[in-house]
Amino acid sequence: MAKKLLCLRCETPMQYLGNEEFQLGKTGWLMGDLPNLLAGAMELEIYCCPHCGKIEFFRPVEISEYQIAQVECPNCGATHDIDDPKCPFCKYRP
Ligand SMILES: [Zn+2]
Ligand SMILES: [Zn+2]
Repeated sequence: MAKKLLCLRCETPMQYLGNEEFQLGKTGWLMGDLPNLLAGAMELEIYCCPHCGKIEFFRPVEISEYQIAQVECPNCGATHDIDDPKCPFCKYRP
């Protein structure tokens, strides 16, 4: 998703050039692409200012749907992760 950005230098609206994948690892001739898989590739969004030529990279923000369910502590009423074995606030253990 393209953002609306203003160039930091000249405040011209920046142009979205697209996404580019950058390899973080190097492909070895023995292991093939395996080190690449381990190191992973990083996808970056590229923006360019048409006025002064400044280029900016952004890492696309992944919107995580994953969220730990929250429970309300029966003792102090604070909400905390359902994963917590006891309330992190009052140490109450249900
Ligand atoms: Zn500029
Ligand atoms: Zn509590």
